[in-house]
Amino acid sequence: MTYIDKVKESVIKRDPNEPEFLQAVDEVLDSIAPVMDRHPELRKAKIVERLVEPERVITFRVPWLDDHNQVQVNRGYRVEFNSAIGPYKGGLRFHPSVNLSILKFLGFEQVFKNALTTTMIGGGKGGSDFDPKGKSDTEVMSFCQSFMSELFRHIGASTDVPAGDIGVGGREIGYLFGQYKRLVNRFEGVLTGKGLNWGGSLIRPEGTGYGQVYFAMEMLKTRNMTLEGKRCLISGSGNVAQFAAEKVLDYGGKVISFSDSSGYILDEGGIDREKLAYVKRLKNEERGRISEYADKFPGTAYFAADPTLDHNPLWDITADVALPSATQNEVNEKDARNLVGNGCICVSEGANMPSTPGAVNHFIESNLLFGPAKAANAGGVSVSALEMSQNSMRLSWSRKEVDEKLHRIMKSIHSTCQENAERYGSPGNLVAGANIAGFLKVANAMMDQGVV
Ligand code: NAP
Repeated sequence: MTYIDKVKESVIKRDPNEPEFLQAVDEVLDSIAPVMDRHPELRKAKIVERLVEPERVITFRVPWLDDHNQVQVNRGYRVEFNSAIGPYKGGLRFHPSVNLSILKFLGFEQVFKNALTTTMIGGGKGGSDFDPKGKSDTEVMSFCQSFMSELFRHIGASTDVPAGDIGVGGREIGYLFGQYKRLVNRFEGVLTGKGLNWGGSLIRPEGTGYGQVYFAMEMLKTRNMTLEGKRCLISGSGNVAQFAAEKVLDYGGKVISFSDSSGYILDEGGIDREKLAYVKRLKNEERGRISEYADKFPGTAYFAADPTLDHNPLWDITADVALPSATQNEVNEKDARNLVGNGCICVSEGANMPSTPGAVNHFIESNLLFGPAKAANAGGVSVSALEMSQNSMRLSWSRKEVDEKLHRIMKSIHSTCQENAERYGSPGNLVAGANIAGFLKVANAMMDQGVV
């Protein structure tokens, strides 16, 4: 049994009921096996054994009153995974599927992603099984205030700086920030994704989607290609999906799909800026369903999600580029085979862990340009780190300045992944490159800081 197999076995033994977390650990450990072979000092210091264990996990009760004055109870979490290179940083997710396994997988991934961004931030993640869908603004505020009434004692501008994720956008960040400020009586950059007139950064909402497309462009460049005229499939229709679509349009690509948890739309004519503005309104203000797009724009097809299928028919549509931007495990091996079989040349992941291990292996074996989430979607957290810098300096950079910094960071992440993949014997494999580069940065910091 190899050293890596032994560590995997101990994690399975300790957390047998956390499939998403085990999936994320499995991939990283496979990638870093060649590093551990070359570095006995990391093995001796049990760096990997320490890395797979969060520094701290907090769970708490979140009681709140709904609009009918009925008491509701949800569960809140914060997983503070690793602070070797900076304060814990990672989003909050409000979705009924949230559990410890999902937040540990997201927190673990975040550690390596944040290390790739060239900024000084550790990794964490949190959230609740609260479902904002169908709730009034007052209910969302009541929930957010109760959630922060416990979370505030664990976070701080130099301790742990949460942001948004699924179900947590500008509205929720506002309510959470207001309650934090009220409780601690301090105006500080404790959350990112804030409103522009109270400490937010320009380009933060755009950061993940823009970065995902910048990363796709870097990959395409290695084969002398661009996005010009390319058919692009996008899943999801939330924050990441909307701004990925906007950047694809900037580069002359054609966006043909969006989805939500109820189904997907296919617009063969292309989703132009006017239609995209409609989607932003529909999702961010009216909080409607993507099916309404098909009613609004005749000639568009809508397909309801069918849970009995063994694959996601969205990925069966012929396209050059795929940008999965909804949720984890939304692309399985069959989907990957469909994409590759239909001529897809590039996949850049906006969602976290959207491709199953079977799908990732198929992409890599097929020599498709594959940008793994922790590299390709690092743009959002990168701009969050830039928001923290601006807050510390009490100034704001222009849209152009932030966008240029984001673009530079995404290029640097791409080249770092390429270099590390090559150095450790997997040229072109950006999954290995991302995992190795992120790991080495955190591992070296942990070595310097002793057994903590
Ligand atoms: P969002 O604004 O809440 O949008 C999420 C989108 O995905 C919605 O269209 C949602 O549909 C869909 N979705 C969620 N769960 C789904 C499921 N189980 N099946 C099918 N569709 C589902 O969230 P977001 O910020 O765009 O996040 C999307 C992904 O990007 C997540 O994996 C997140 O972790 C990742 N990410 C986000 C950021 C960021 O800065 N926001 C940064 C890095 C990575 P419904 O409306 O029907 O739920």
